[in-house]
Amino acid sequence: MTKKVLVLGELRDGALRNVSFEAIAAGKKIAAGGQVIAVLIGDSVKSYSEDLIKYGADKVIAIEDEKLKHYTSDGFSQAFLAVTEKEKPQGIVFGHTALGKDLSPKIASKLNIGLISDVTAIEEEDGETVFIRPIYSGKAFEKKIISEGIVFVTVRPNNIDPLPKDEGRTGEVNGLAVEIKDLRTIIKEVVRKASEGVDLSEAKVIIAGGRGVKSSEGFEPLKELADVLGGAVGASRGACDADYCDYSLQIGQTGKVVTPDLYIACGISGAIQHMAGMSNSKVIVAINKDPEANIFNVADYGIVGDLFEVVPLLTDEFRKLKA
Ligand code: FAD
Repeated sequence: MTKKVLVLGELRDGALRNVSFEAIAAGKKIAAGGQVIAVLIGDSVKSYSEDLIKYGADKVIAIEDEKLKHYTSDGFSQAFLAVTEKEKPQGIVFGHTALGKDLSPKIASKLNIGLISDVTAIEEEDGETVFIRPIYSGKAFEKKIISEGIVFVTVRPNNIDPLPKDEGRTGEVNGLAVEIKDLRTIIKEVVRKASEGVDLSEAKVIIAGGRGVKSSEGFEPLKELADVLGGAVGASRGACDADYCDYSLQIGQTGKVVTPDLYIACGISGAIQHMAGMSNSKVIVAINKDPEANIFNVADYGIVGDLFEVVPLLTDEFRKLKA
């Protein structure tokens, strides 16, 4: 039987999140030659369909309603379940984002199916599709399969490569009318904290500061380096607790989980709770005064030194390379 896989296209600040394209690539693996259908939910979302198709979706279903302007689990679950009802998929993929983490258990329980969350890789083994996810705060990985029923997974951003964009690709775009009712939460307005620069969870380069930066001004050299590299600034909880920066920058077990291509940890000791959020980064550079700091155990490159000397030197060198 040809498989059909639904993938949720996620929008943020008027643009599709990269994880939507990564989810399509995951959907393709699950569909194994079958059909990948991207689902868009919002008040005016059809215009985003084209990019989903260029990144590999075979078809897009858009559900538009004024009541879906802002995310609510009641509204989005009604919309998504209407698509599952219509399409009867064999697979579902969401991004493992704040939205995906909130919506996926609700959909799984309504459909009475299992869910493999936070998948970082998908492999084929003996004809089975195997999902790999970190456990014990990233200290180990487990392999899971779903042998019957709908295969439902959330994929961690920045782990599964999207398919190359094919400008010439075309596909069907359909609307689906769904009556959205009984919303228990009405969101009148979303006030976002003004965030500078690149979104931390999707950043390819992260410069993170710990208690070693010593003050909020101490983050300035890190911001400069991040600007030169087109990256984002992150932090340890130590730095957030000390009020050097906002908690929205916190990386770790109780903060954001990130997987950039390059993670530069400045003045961070490398507590297990911090490493739970960054140890899967592709290349880790640690700058620390203490040669015994635990962060050097996960670092690919370690620099023993004062971050206030090392970081500006790195910034200058990268500037020269870019000039
Ligand atoms: P410290 O451990 O104080 O390390 C500072 C480092 O800076 C030291 O290694 C020092 O040598 C170095 N340093 C000082 N000055 C300089 C300088 N000039 N140049 C270079 N290096 C310098 N932590 C997180 O990060 N994320 C989480 O999500 C998180 N969740 C937690 C959940 C729980 C339930 C608990 C109990 C803890 C959690 N923590 C978390 C806290 C964690 O245990 C650590 O306390 C925290 O990560 C320490 O932050 P730090 O490395 O910035 O500070």
